[in-house]
Amino acid sequence: APRKNVFEFLDLPRKMPARIPLALRRDGDWGELYGAFNADTAKHQAERCLDCGNPYCSWKCPLHNYIPNWLELAREDRVHEAATLCHETNPLPEICGRVCPQDRLCEGACTLNDGFGAVTIGAVEKYIVDRAVAEGWTPDMSRVVPTGRRVAVVGAGPAGLSCADRLAHAGIQAVVYDRYEQIGGLLQFGIPSFKLDKSVIQTRRELLEGMGVEFRLGTEVGRDVGFDALLDEFDAVFLGLGSYRYTDGGLPGQDLKGVLPALPFLVQNGRVVTGTEPAGKPIAGWEDSLAVPELKGRRVVVLGGGDTGMDCVRSAIRLGAAEVTCAYRRDEANMPGSAREVANAREEGVRFLFNRQPLEIIGAGDQVTGVRVAETRLGEPDAHGRQRAEIIEGSESVLEADVVVIAFGFRPDAPEWLARHGIELEADGRIRTSGEHGERPYQTAHPRVFAGGDAVRGADLVVTAAFEGREAAVGITRLLRNGDRKPATDAAA
Ligand code: FAD
Ligand code: SF4
Repeated sequence: APRKNVFEFLDLPRKMPARIPLALRRDGDWGELYGAFNADTAKHQAERCLDCGNPYCSWKCPLHNYIPNWLELAREDRVHEAATLCHETNPLPEICGRVCPQDRLCEGACTLNDGFGAVTIGAVEKYIVDRAVAEGWTPDMSRVVPTGRRVAVVGAGPAGLSCADRLAHAGIQAVVYDRYEQIGGLLQFGIPSFKLDKSVIQTRRELLEGMGVEFRLGTEVGRDVGFDALLDEFDAVFLGLGSYRYTDGGLPGQDLKGVLPALPFLVQNGRVVTGTEPAGKPIAGWEDSLAVPELKGRRVVVLGGGDTGMDCVRSAIRLGAAEVTCAYRRDEANMPGSAREVANAREEGVRFLFNRQPLEIIGAGDQVTGVRVAETRLGEPDAHGRQRAEIIEGSESVLEADVVVIAFGFRPDAPEWLARHGIELEADGRIRTSGEHGERPYQTAHPRVFAGGDAVRGADLVVTAAFEGREAAVGITRLLRNGDRKPATDAAA
């Protein structure tokens, strides 16, 4: 349909869906922060798109979504067609619409992000798929021709789920293994429900099962089932193992009581919030079992400025902490976390201390009482091109704390069975693959094994994991289409 007014954006400001009121959030409401657009608002927000000849938003989206095209369908209220188009490039659109840091991806690249307010791309993407699925939309599998090929997918995180989705579309049976009893990986166990309600993952599971994807959950490969057995049973294997080796920073005093590693804190808290575990129970599945301490009325300091740090500070607010401080060693412009989440955290009452390097965690007896920090200034770029945080002499001070959460990030933790099967690693433990280009994207040194997501690129984003899972499925499909049936021995592959 012709557009009524291409200058719609001049009259209609950018508008995000309504958020849960601040008082409720501070009072422990764990619901998804952003609500849903109604049909009129979604249409109007989609109508703000200029339909640029060269859509930078699509280029900046790691999946290269057809953004202006599905915005146009949303403007015309053709949400089922829009949902089909969203899925052409994105196996997890309703999830990316919720958790992508849009301000530095699609929306950051929107032409209107120049004083007019970017189109609310993520919120419309979520609206399209939520509404279409609620109305009964399912992926069209009517033209899929079964190939008889079977592929094991290890890891039910975004990389594994995306790979399984694309394999199903190619007529290849995907069997997804995960050591946990639920799918989603960090979507389920890391990202808090105020960013992603867990029912969204359940809905995605039903869609995938409807497409023929099989899940074998509560099964750890390498422990409950051998990797050899997968290579025997399946034509190929995809590894979406994630990145879980905790970076603790080696700070003196980090073993004091009240010092918590970020992910176990978020995992256990998520289990309590969703009713999977009662409060106060030690964290299952983590070597250093601990329970989430009572935070009500306590002073919490979170060290680190990434997505994980932001989730920790905002969880602490919802747990009733009296004072929540985030200390980060560089300045705000260099924070790795999404600017939107930083703004939400600030609004919820989090205090940010930038340019603060933690030196030591201090305590009285075995209990933590604070963190000694020094102020920093940004100096010369390091090997990755990021300016180093240099300590300013004589600037030390103590941040008082009852609880300290360490959120310095994660590195891949390659299981030993990879090397035994000729799968090569990079020096930092990431799985080495052929990368996104070439005939068989994301193929490892073992010809029938592919890999993607955080295990390959290091801790990153849902959307980049989805991209690598999707592209690895292209590689696997080509391998299997070219007649490379499972060889009698892998040496012959
Ligand atoms: P994962 O999601 O880690 O999934 C890997 C899966 O493999 C897990 O379920 C694991 O159990 C399973 N597995 C591993 N080994 C085995 C085995 N041997 N056998 C069986 N199963 C196995 N990204 C964003 O884009 N936006 C955000 O807002 C955001 N917030 C985040 C908040 C936190 C707290 C964290 C930790 C990360 C966040 N991220 C965010 C990053 C994002 O979650 C990850 O980049 C993404 O989940 C990686 O996907 P993946 O599939 O590679 O790995
Ligand atoms: Fe934007 Fe993420 Fe959706 Fe791409 S997948 S359009 S980056 S919200």
